Amino acid sequence: MSEQKSALAESHDTLVAEEEAVALTSELIRIDTTNTGDPATVVGERAAAEYVAEKLAEVGYETTYVESGGKGRGNVIARLAGADPSRGALLVHGHLDVVPADPAEWSVHPFSGAVQDDYVWGRGAVDMKDMLGMTLATARRFKRDGIVPPRDLIFAFLADEEAGGEYGAQWLVENRADLFEGATEAISEVGGFSITVKDGVRAYMIETAEKGIAWLRLRARGRAGHGSMVHEDNAVTKLTQAVARLGTHKFPVVLTDSVKEFFAAVTELTGMEFDEADLDGSVAKLGAVARMVGATLRDTANPTMLNAGYKANVIPSVAEAVVDCRVLPGRREAFERELDEILGPDIEREYVTNLPSVETTFDGALVDAMTASIIAEDPGAVTLPYMLSGGTDAKSFQSLGIRCFGFAPLRLPADLDFSALFHGVDERVPVDALKFGTRVLDRFLRSS
Ligand SMILES: [Zn+2]
Repeated sequence: MSEQKSALAESHDTLVAEEEAVALTSELIRIDTTNTGDPATVVGERAAAEYVAEKLAEVGYETTYVESGGKGRGNVIARLAGADPSRGALLVHGHLDVVPADPAEWSVHPFSGAVQDDYVWGRGAVDMKDMLGMTLATARRFKRDGIVPPRDLIFAFLADEEAGGEYGAQWLVENRADLFEGATEAISEVGGFSITVKDGVRAYMIETAEKGIAWLRLRARGRAGHGSMVHEDNAVTKLTQAVARLGTHKFPVVLTDSVKEFFAAVTELTGMEFDEADLDGSVAKLGAVARMVGATLRDTANPTMLNAGYKANVIPSVAEAVVDCRVLPGRREAFERELDEILGPDIEREYVTNLPSVETTFDGALVDAMTASIIAEDPGAVTLPYMLSGGTDAKSFQSLGIRCFGFAPLRLPADLDFSALFHGVDERVPVDALKFGTRVLDRFLRSS
């Protein structure tokens, strides 16, 4: 059907999809889906899931609404049949929830979805209601126009990513794997955005790897007693010493394949060298993405919570801390060994959250299709692989044998500090980037 359309009609449909992506992103931001990590406080995931389901049903999709474990933790899944059912399906997934935002800190209300100054503003604008808007707009266009993709597409809009996916991707993978049957590859967030490297050349960072998440609870035990007396077995002292040792420890630099390939690509583009003797110094020269790339050189451990005691003159028998550790692919055993050496025998440790790392290679037909779709819309651009220091729902889908990438295409202004917008104040996405991303996604889903 689409082949018979005139070029004029096609470009009209493209404009409609672009405008829809902007409107849908803004409307999704207006549905407050704050996820504090405490299931009792979740408010809008169900409403957002129902909104998405309605937008899909409106153009003829059959949708599956699944409430995962907790009350109101809505997820929506829909399929679009492809031309070749013998090929594995491509999963396009995104999360509906966002992290909290304090309106007092923002220039606009974080749940206003305001479209002003060529940006869509609000919590979720880049993480990741932008991609949801682009995905929905593209899915709607395909259905409306009768576009048949080369293989099955599975669209998944999920709850609870910001708290590890226990009520979202992880729950679905464990309880409703049937919904993802046949999926071999997936795309989602935190990849596909551009950085401007040199002379205006844009490089689009495609996520091929993620560090593992190891949130640890540490516990020291001692003898309870009166705060006025000599006391040699103080749980608070033991715990804080261990926390300080861990928090200031530098884990060794280990260059994984994704990071090596990223450095090689940047060197080729810019001539910039990454001196192995001073990688931290070299990475610092990368500008806005240095924080993110720097965290992928080694395992990291950041103490985040402390808990002990109940009265100034009572020495408690237990003291606890939580440390946010992020572990490189292939490093888990070595990390745990090193961790135990740093903590010593007096500290108990347990995982609060323990999620694996992710790593795939930057090659094959899917990667070629990503690159081709980007270049078609931004001639002269390049794509390169990188490792995300954070974590996404890719961790859950990888356990189904699905090859996962971060590919939510956005062409960004050179001076925008994009990585600071994630979970940041005044989170916003350029309207032009959303339109660009919708065109790229359309090309990509038609050709992969
Ligand atoms: Zn996200």
